[in-house]
Amino acid sequence: MAKKIVIVGAGVAGVNAATKLVDNGYPGNQITIIDMGNDPYNRKPEEVMTGFLGAGGWSDGKLTYHTAIGGQLSKYVGEEKAMALMDQVINNFKRFHPKPEEVQCSNPVEEPEFIKPYFGLRLFPVWHVGTDYLHEIGKNWYDYLVSKGVQFIWKERVFKVDFESHLVYHTIKGKEGQYALEYDQLIFGVGKSGIDFAQHVQDEYQLETEPKSVQIGVRFEAPQKHFQDLIDISYDFKLYRKFEDKGVSLRSFCTNNNAAYVAVEDTYGNHSYNGHAKKDPKYRNDMTNFGILMEINGISNPFEWSREVVSKLQSDSTGLYYSPTRIPSTTSEGEKVTTFQINTLKGVKEIMGGYWNYIEDFIEDMKKVFPTLGDDWGVYIPEVKYLSSEPLVYHSDLALIEYPDVHFVGDALSARGITVSGAQGILSVGKLISKECPWDNIQGDIINWR
Ligand SMILES: Cc1cc2nc3c(=O)[nH]c(=O)nc-3n(C[C@H](O)[C@H](O)[C@H](O)COP(=O)(O)OP(=O)(O)OC[C@H]3O[C@@H](n4cnc5c(N)ncnc54)[C@H](O)[C@@H]3O)c2cc1C
Repeated sequence: MAKKIVIVGAGVAGVNAATKLVDNGYPGNQITIIDMGNDPYNRKPEEVMTGFLGAGGWSDGKLTYHTAIGGQLSKYVGEEKAMALMDQVINNFKRFHPKPEEVQCSNPVEEPEFIKPYFGLRLFPVWHVGTDYLHEIGKNWYDYLVSKGVQFIWKERVFKVDFESHLVYHTIKGKEGQYALEYDQLIFGVGKSGIDFAQHVQDEYQLETEPKSVQIGVRFEAPQKHFQDLIDISYDFKLYRKFEDKGVSLRSFCTNNNAAYVAVEDTYGNHSYNGHAKKDPKYRNDMTNFGILMEINGISNPFEWSREVVSKLQSDSTGLYYSPTRIPSTTSEGEKVTTFQINTLKGVKEIMGGYWNYIEDFIEDMKKVFPTLGDDWGVYIPEVKYLSSEPLVYHSDLALIEYPDVHFVGDALSARGITVSGAQGILSVGKLISKECPWDNIQGDIINWR
């Protein structure tokens, strides 16, 4: 009898895990996926973080293809297996794509001379799916899993997991009660929208974790023409710089072009910003947006620190927008991006202390590298990545060392992107598919001891 598998979170990680199982003959009726969002047919554009494919379902659909990007993978399985797992995720996105031939890979090779005096440039391949196609992919993918017998529970939130009794408690019609699903194996993939719940579970079971850095900054936006020379070389360029002695590094992050929109993220009741791009030419706005993110090491409680700073960087129940010349842009639905425009950065500097100078210098140097930029830009404040503290897991299947029937995957573990999250989902179920688990014998029982 196949083991009962419960997957919490129908995000990128959970969906790839389920797909790997049924592709390999695992009976779908032994798999239950529960998500607090909507199925792909009912998911609305404003539901950015929840529902089928999770945050990935309404993202820019840029599938990064390098182990240095998007979170931890090669540390668990080594470089070669990590790439093989990422291949499987990318193939899944192509397989359910209505026009797979349109999924293209940009693979830049050399850093241009005009960047070198000011920034390092990380070059890596990216497969670009496009936000609008993601919805079609989601529907096709969902239909496939349903046809294989996978059970879905939508619009219900998991509020308690009992690792000892193997029970997952979830709401019924939005109300908490005593109803619970029993599992033999639990895949825990709650992503960013479930980060507080993941933290709660870690605290409740006092799971041993690895320390993480603070990741905070802004979403920068400007007309695309100023960056075109670089975009021609690398669609999703990553400018970076490092201040080793200060424990700070900065990078541009998740670049969106052509039809590029800024998206509001709602976490812990505060607003922060991200971006996405559409593929359909009708959405073209000739804008570029990307995060300028600082990684700050050495802050003793990075999670609390970030939350406090983000909560202070709010006004009128939303985040802030600053520009020397511009006003906030509109969303792809033609609505003004929800933000509060400020005309001075004085308050922001006070809240972020000396760290703001790094961002200011980054922008000043971009003005030198991209000479037409001048004051033709704006920043949405803040952009933040709340990195979950990473529980110690077995490298072979991402199972908790204290509770080997529970697997942490995706952003709830250490990922920060679609390809790595999906790959972690696939890795987590490898042992359950007897005929295919090549990394079992290779990585054995390694765990990420500090
Ligand atoms: C606007 C935006 C754009 C992005 N663009 C890109 C990009 O272009 N490329 C890239 O690589 N990455 C991108 N990302 C990041 C990427 O989407 C995530 O890294 C990835 O989706 C994480 O996968 P996951 O499965 O861990 O979590 P998610 O995909 O976030 O899925 C988690 C799921 O868990 C559910 N959930 C949470 N808590 C509970 C609970 N208590 N009970 C029941 N269900 C719960 C949620 O509803 C959600 O559906 C973007 C993110 C955002 C927000």
